[in-house]
Parts: sequence; C-alpha cells; structure tokens
Amino acid sequence: MIDSLRSIKNQVRALRAYSLSPHRASIKINQNENPFDAPPAIKQETLRRLEKRKWSRYPDFIPVSLQERLADFSSWQRDGVIAGNGSNELIQALLMVTIGEGKRVLISEPTFALYRQVTTVLGGDLISVPLTREFQFDVESLAREIEQTKPDVVILCSPNNPTGCVLRSEDLSRLLSIAPGLVVIDEAYHEFAQRSVVSLLNEFDRLVVLRTFSKAMALAALRVGYLLASPALVTEIRKAVLPYNLNAFSQTAAEVAIDLYEAELLPLVRSIMSERDRLFEELNTIPGLSPIKSEANFMIAKATVGPKQIFDELIKKDILVRDVSSYPMLSEYFRISVGTPQENDLLIEAMRAILL
Ligand code: PMP
Repeated sequence: MIDSLRSIKNQVRALRAYSLSPHRASIKINQNENPFDAPPAIKQETLRRLEKRKWSRYPDFIPVSLQERLADFSSWQRDGVIAGNGSNELIQALLMVTIGEGKRVLISEPTFALYRQVTTVLGGDLISVPLTREFQFDVESLAREIEQTKPDVVILCSPNNPTGCVLRSEDLSRLLSIAPGLVVIDEAYHEFAQRSVVSLLNEFDRLVVLRTFSKAMALAALRVGYLLASPALVTEIRKAVLPYNLNAFSQTAAEVAIDLYEAELLPLVRSIMSERDRLFEELNTIPGLSPIKSEANFMIAKATVGPKQIFDELIKKDILVRDVSSYPMLSEYFRISVGTPQENDLLIEAMRAILL
C-alpha cells in the first residue's frame, strides 16, 4: 500500500468515486438538465445587475436577499431556508451535522448515488430498501425498516432519480409519523411532477426538503440549490456550510430566475412535461424497447440489446445517454433525459434504427 494512503479511512478507500462518462455529443441527454438554455431575458437581466455591483467585494456572508425570495417562492418561512452551491452541498452539510460512526441513514435504491457516497465517507451505516419490482417506493418495507432500525436520517428522492417514481404525500406523512430522526425529501425534479411536500413542513418539524436550480430552473452551470426546514434545524445545518458558499454571480442569476419564473421558465417546464409524455408513448411503440413511466424530466428504459450496446450505438449517432446498468436493480437499463422536441425526434428515430 502507498504509505500516504494509510491515513485515509478504510471505508473511503473501498469506495468508487462518483463519476460521469467523459463522452461528448451534440444531443446531450445524460444529466437531466433543462434542454432549453436559460432564456435570454434571464441572462441579460443577470448581467445588468452584475454590471452595477462591485466585483472586488465579497458576496453576502449569507445570501439573505436570495433566501427571502426562495422562501416566498416556496411558500415557506424566511428563516427556514439555506441556499447552497448546488443541492449537493446541502446534502453534504445535512449529513455532516447528523452522521458519523454508529449513525444510520435509510435510503431506497436505486436512487441518486450521492446519498450513499457521503454517508459512507462520513463513517455512517447505510440501510437500503429496494424499490418494488414496478420501480415504486416500497412504503411497507420502508415503514418496517424505520421501526426496526430507527435511522437517524431517511433520505428519499421524489421524483426519484433515475426511475421517476413519486412518494405520495399520505405515504410520507405515515413515514414521518413513525420516524425517530430526520426525513429528507430531495425534490430536485418536483416541477416536472407538479407536486411538492413543502406544505408538510408546517406539520412535521423533522422534515427537510431539498431543491435545485440545476433542472427546471435551467441554471446547472451556476450551481444553486436550497434547503427548506424548521428554523431550529436550519440554524444547526448552517454550521456545516462554509461562509460565502454562493458566489455573487449565481446568487444574482437565481434571484432573476425566480423573478422571471412564470414568464420565462414555466412555459419550458410545460413543454418538457408534454415532451416526456410524447417520448414515452413513441418509445413504447418500438418493438424490443420498454420505457418506464416517469414523473420527472427523464425515464429509464430497457431494450432487447443491452444498455452498453445502446449507449455505444447512440454515441455513434451523436446522442449521449446515461448507462445506469451499475445501479441496483437496473442491470438492463439506460436513462434518457427529455430533450427539445427536435432532439426527442432524433432519439426516437435512432432507437427505431438500432432496434430494427
Ligand atoms: N439531487 C438529485 C436527485 C439529483 O439528481 C441531482 C443532480 N443530478 C442533485 C440532487 C444535485 O443537484 P445540484 O446540481 O443542485 O447539486
């Protein structure tokens, strides 16, 4: 063993780094981003506001004006919000203040890989409940595990990445009423399901909601996410967030995106939702291809030829999808993000040609 590595925790050395295939393609449907760029009105107004600001001065210690807008935008209290450098940062902060040796995190898999990754790095124990065979949340098994293992934190992603299933509000209420610790709902894709659990924050002070500007809000390049929880919890979680975590550019763009959401972004979200439904219907008619219905801006599918071959054939046609075959339960699957109408047409055509 290289001597310098003796200092690294064993569980970290055993872990494979979270990574992404380095491929590039004109049709990039591998990261669930908004296929439409941020609208020009949002870019221009952001640049206008930034021009007036001194770039030599630090951003706010805590981005108060953004947090106030986020609170109003989400119908939640102003002192119950943390803005982060992507929601990834807030997942990490939340687990840093809750998880260490001997602490338990319950998740449902397959799901977003970071929950397992950060829990493991922090030395916590991960308990995983599989989705049902139909790729839905197995609420009975989750309830049983919560009662038996009393996890310190439960993290569920709804709509779930990569399967697109949604946890019903009644089911979440049930889990919240028996969970002894925190229950985190990652709502990175909530706009596409037109559902949110934010109203339950009024009822359950152990609930935490995470959201991002990287998907529906079309600002993935700028790294903005936010966390909604009771003010008491926010005070504690903030202790693991670095000062000036959000740069002035991102802060300003996020404020503008909120101000212009209804006029500029909502029409794009609506188009993505209708394209998702069209894409599902079209792919479902291709012999040898089975897409899974999703409430997000992506879906998984399996084909009679395996996911690696699908990935390779599509990349030859300049289309980049995500191979999710290393995820639990998904050895036969790949994931596609919903693109623009033209991109979706090209994907459908390419899939027909591959499966001819
Ligand atoms: N949560 C989920 C479920 C995600 O899929 C992603 C991004 N792939 C994130 C969080 C991270 O988002 P952000 O860009 O805000 O860090």
